[in-house]
Amino acid sequence: MSRSLPTPSKISQPFWDSCKSEHMQIQRCEDCGVYAFYPVYICPECASRHLAWTSVSGKGTIHTFTVAAKSSFELEGPLVVALVELEEGAMMVSNIRTKSPETLSIGAPVRLAYERVSDEITLPMFEPA
Ligand SMILES: [Zn+2]
Repeated sequence: MSRSLPTPSKISQPFWDSCKSEHMQIQRCEDCGVYAFYPVYICPECASRHLAWTSVSGKGTIHTFTVAAKSSFELEGPLVVALVELEEGAMMVSNIRTKSPETLSIGAPVRLAYERVSDEITLPMFEPA
């Protein structure tokens, strides 16, 4: 089984375009400075509609994670699903690429990596930093 791929929508297209170019951008509110993810039309903090796509540093920390004991996906290593807090403050559900998930811990630093899975989609994921 292959993994199901995301379908970009009008609001998420800039996000997927930025991942494809391997310079991930998320939205930042121009009024209050909060970073938002997933893509939104209205700032979750102050309800402003002035959101600008902004590059992120790619640094983050593991907020929480789980390791799938079994996976039906064809992957090279174990499937690690994590909630990563970006340095900018936004939270992302993603995967952590590692061959030794037993070395991962909550609070550990990770860095953004990319995995091209189709012509349209490059998935953002993380690696131990
Ligand atoms: Zn705001």
